[in-house]
Amino acid sequence: MIKNIIFDLGNVLLRFKPEEFLLQFTSDKEYIKQFVPKITRSKLWLDLDRGLESLENAEIIFISKYPEEKELISLFFNHWMEMLTPIEENINILLDLSKSGYKTYILSNYIKEAFIFVKEKFDFFTIFDGQIISGEEKVIKPDKVIYESLLRRYQLIPEESLFIDDILFFLKPAKKLGISTIWNRPHTDLRKELKKFNVVI
Ligand SMILES: [Mg+2]
Repeated sequence: MIKNIIFDLGNVLLRFKPEEFLLQFTSDKEYIKQFVPKITRSKLWLDLDRGLESLENAEIIFISKYPEEKELISLFFNHWMEMLTPIEENINILLDLSKSGYKTYILSNYIKEAFIFVKEKFDFFTIFDGQIISGEEKVIKPDKVIYESLLRRYQLIPEESLFIDDILFFLKPAKKLGISTIWNRPHTDLRKELKKFNVVI
């Protein structure tokens, strides 16, 4: 029986859509398309996720690497946290799960400063029974260590736990440990998927 529901943050509970977000600064979609991967799919961004680098330093490093793109880099770093907005239908599911007696947890790759920001901004963070944030743990998904940390810290039994992530690759280590998983794609009906695991809300 499932008792614990573990949530990823980005694109499960909070939006992370840099391409859409940057449209407010430039209408040049081709430019955005080449810009975003250079930032959010870089090794440096992974170091931010790992808590090995600060956002302040990262901005300086990116500008020194791509000086001709200084303007958009600065705009991005000054504003990117504004795109971290709640995905309401999934927040409602989180609230219902908690009311129905399920324990809820976060297991997320998230930049430390961004986590502090969203935690302060959105009330739903008070609901969780525990959290593992990569920027605080200095380890990122899909390293199995981060999944094991969650199980150990909160004494979770894998067979009683269900993990929801939008990236398939991040579900695999959880599955290996015996945790049930839901791949939350853009059009996933999360309530329906939870029902398949007899999660009653
Ligand atoms: Mg995600």
